[in-house]
Amino acid sequence: MGTPNDRVPLAERVEQLLDGEGPLRIVAAGDPVLRGGTEPYDGQLDPALLARFVRALRITMRTAPGVGLAAPQVGVALRIAVIEDPAPVPEEVRIARGRVPQPFRVLVNPAYEPVGAERAAFFEGCLSVPGYQAVVARPAAVRLTGQDEQGRALDEVFTGWPARIVQHETDHLDGTLYLDRAEPRSLSSNEAAARNWAQPTAEEAARALGFDLP
Ligand code: ZN
Repeated sequence: MGTPNDRVPLAERVEQLLDGEGPLRIVAAGDPVLRGGTEPYDGQLDPALLARFVRALRITMRTAPGVGLAAPQVGVALRIAVIEDPAPVPEEVRIARGRVPQPFRVLVNPAYEPVGAERAAFFEGCLSVPGYQAVVARPAAVRLTGQDEQGRALDEVFTGWPARIVQHETDHLDGTLYLDRAEPRSLSSNEAAARNWAQPTAEEAARALGFDLP
């Protein structure tokens, strides 16, 4: 896909990005970098630059704040994402959504496949689609493979909210936004979602807005 940055090598592009201080600018839906997919990470950034890039992703995610951030969201078409969720939610939400704390992790070249047939549907949002949320039905458990930032193999089953986070972030690396998988009739502004759909499950929203749950 044609973007002005196509001809700038990735390492140079990342060096430019990291030139400034503080969090990186988050790219919003409509930018082709969110739709073009990513190159697998294969040493394009040397270890020092990779470490600086990961640190910048972490700062940007925490500042937003969000529970995950993929490299394309800061304009870098590389197969890398970070996740972290302190999960500051009430007990009933933790139980209904499986929203347990997820420590900081770096996902390098992640891929996932469903484990079992169970699906879970909840409101989710995206830092690249500010102001809105929608219900997405996703596999309740996934097996995630790939590497970590040290190149160590990753092969782990995620369940609950962390399963949703790793699917959302891995999808970004394939050029997919959560809206592509969402129930269109569930689309709610953040204000409407907070006012009407703060319940632990999406059942009332499904009834009132008219969409199906798995
Ligand atoms: Zn997102």
